[in-house]
Amino acid sequence: MTDETERDEDISRAEGAEAPGAATDDAPATPPEVGERPVTRSGFVAIVGKPNVGKSTLLNTMLGVKVAPITPKPQTTRRGVRGIYTFEDRQLVFVDTPGLHRGGDTVLDQAMHREVRDAVVDVDFVLWVVDLRRPPSDEDKDVARLLSGLPPEVPVIIVGNKVDAAKYPEEALQLYGDLLPTAERSVALSALNDPKAVYALRDDLLDRLEEAPFFFPGDVRSDQTREQWAAELIREAAMIHLRQELPYTVAVQVVDWQDPPEEGRPIVITAEIWVEKPGHRRIVIGSGGAMIKEIGRMARKQLEVFLQERVFLELEVVVRRDWRRDKEALRELGYEP
Ligand code: GDP
Ligand code: MG
Repeated sequence: MTDETERDEDISRAEGAEAPGAATDDAPATPPEVGERPVTRSGFVAIVGKPNVGKSTLLNTMLGVKVAPITPKPQTTRRGVRGIYTFEDRQLVFVDTPGLHRGGDTVLDQAMHREVRDAVVDVDFVLWVVDLRRPPSDEDKDVARLLSGLPPEVPVIIVGNKVDAAKYPEEALQLYGDLLPTAERSVALSALNDPKAVYALRDDLLDRLEEAPFFFPGDVRSDQTREQWAAELIREAAMIHLRQELPYTVAVQVVDWQDPPEEGRPIVITAEIWVEKPGHRRIVIGSGGAMIKEIGRMARKQLEVFLQERVFLELEVVVRRDWRRDKEALRELGYEP
């Protein structure tokens, strides 16, 4: 029943696969042509779940590097960060969603909801991450409802996370499973403390990929720009230091990035921290500039670890009233409201 065009394409791909030294019984192996493309397998994986269940931790363990920011506070991953895992001829592209939360009505909330919805459409697998320390909440039910609307051919795997800290993991996993009877299976693991279990899940996905071209070059791990990535690290440092004083109201934009003109000089990164009120600006700067200095120090250390170079980080605190409701501001930050 295959349509002819599709069949043609399959055949040409299959030939591509056989050519590089394929040892079939009846045909002698031919050397690969220069520039010939080997057959690759790839697919998209959406990581969904309510805030704070461990989505970013799972992604980072899958990739073996730090990509999305992780902090003990929910809602810190605002942008859908993609991580890319390439092993030989196979590539997984992960979509880390910002997490669903209830009741918000700002432009930002709407943009985030759209991002989550977009993330689960058109993927090859969905990992629904849940927290096994607790039974399902209303937010989990919302996610389950969203996932039960997916086309049946998209497999959803329930990832029961934090099994290391759960008292009744089996019972909890059962309750989550009951919310989504269409889920393919469920697995209990600890994204933080049991990388082997995470790799097993990753390898299972790798094994099941269908033939498709790579979406990214094999050596790329994230499609964020370096500026977006640095902004996330700075924002993470700010969130950690401002925990008590200022929940969820800063945004960071990197406005300049100068690579060193000569060896031994630092990379100079200039970033703005956006706040909504002058009072917030004073808090972020802190008395005698102590707070901003601490934020800068922490962010700089992180940047230096990952860039493997010295960094000079210049931070400026800017009052942008109502940036969370401002479409133009969100666009500047890379959201599409
Ligand atoms: P996200 O909001 O879903 O992306 O969640 P994060 O990945 O940022 O994790 C939220 C919090 O849960 C962080 O403090 C993590 O260290 C913690 N966490 C993540 N995975 C585990 C786990 O397997 N076990 C435990 N005990 N904590 C975890
Ligand atoms: Mg996250």
